[in-house]
Amino acid sequence: MSAKIKLHWPVDDRTITQYFGENPQLYAQYHQPGHEGLDFRAPLGANIYACADGEVFAIRPNDGNAYGLHVRLRHFVDGLEYRTIYAHLSKVLVSVGQQVKAGELIALAGNTGHSFGPHLHLTLKLVGAQTPGYPPGVIDPLPYLEEPQLPPPSDLLVHPTVRLRLRSGPTTASTHLLWLDPGEPLTILGDAEAARAKIGQMGEWLQVQRADGMHGYVAAWYVQLHPEVPEQPEEPEEPEPSGPLTVYATEALNVRRGPSTGTSRIAIALPDEPLEVLDDRETALEVLGDRGKWLRVRLPYGLRGYVAAWYVTTEPGQPVGPLLTVYPTQDMNMRERPTVRAKRIGRPAHNTPLTVHDDPTRARGLVGRYDEWLYVQTPEGQWGWVAAWYVSTTPT
Ligand SMILES: [Zn+2]
Repeated sequence: MSAKIKLHWPVDDRTITQYFGENPQLYAQYHQPGHEGLDFRAPLGANIYACADGEVFAIRPNDGNAYGLHVRLRHFVDGLEYRTIYAHLSKVLVSVGQQVKAGELIALAGNTGHSFGPHLHLTLKLVGAQTPGYPPGVIDPLPYLEEPQLPPPSDLLVHPTVRLRLRSGPTTASTHLLWLDPGEPLTILGDAEAARAKIGQMGEWLQVQRADGMHGYVAAWYVQLHPEVPEQPEEPEEPEPSGPLTVYATEALNVRRGPSTGTSRIAIALPDEPLEVLDDRETALEVLGDRGKWLRVRLPYGLRGYVAAWYVTTEPGQPVGPLLTVYPTQDMNMRERPTVRAKRIGRPAHNTPLTVHDDPTRARGLVGRYDEWLYVQTPEGQWGWVAAWYVSTTPT
């Protein structure tokens, strides 16, 4: 058995804007069944990195060819020859015959050739392979693309000094995921000391994670170190009535398998949904609102899990408004948890309407993003997680 090539992400942004095989009508002019590679979001001048160790074997100028200015690399993996093509560039930073390493800067993104705005087009070829209808060797790069790895959380906390955008990448052109409130504590991901040196620095970016697990990048010049909150002395309380306590999420909230942000998400609770607390009522009331404490709850549709005690209250919130509906771009798997390794619990067909059980604005920001997941309900009433990069907000 031969080893397969592993493709390093070629851009900083983690957004794929067009998948392999999409838009057959547009690609008919090239006599192809659909898009012959992957398009990545990349603003003009963004860094383009080599997907694997290899050799630059061709550079073609913007001479009227469909790829515009582009670079071709050749990679040998266990006796197989793969090729990667990086298209629509504005500038090439390597020369023919040069050896490059995976992740090495090779070019800058542009809009040359047949392109409707700056982006990176990546074609993958395996010499000898044949995908029906496509040019010889062309294969779908997606299964070879490495999963983006999240750096481990540090013990450093920062908070925004203004209402601030959480973005998918470390540039102002990256996708806006959601708004962060001033003062909201954010955990720095990765090296705390390196991050500490960037705080307040113009042009620097920090990779952060919210208490609900959502992660992304914030502008370092709009954050400051989060102060430790001093312990408040507790007043002795009257004994509370017994019986189960009902709480509500203060915003769309991850329900987790265990009492930690390190455990997997199993569902999302909305602010108007009653969560029945399964812990002892008095203990639960004591930890309500405490950072770092967790409550074991039962959702209205029966599922049990844990929620962050600092994101719940005893008062129901407003419904988040009409929920977003998404449509699979092909038959797809529905899973028990948001990872490709989780148990498959269903298989929604192409264009089945799926209701996203989450804040609609946040959900919309996740659609099409690689390695993000949506918690959805099928028309039959089944709940589960689907890959955000295989759904669209309109039927396809
Ligand atoms: Zn393309």
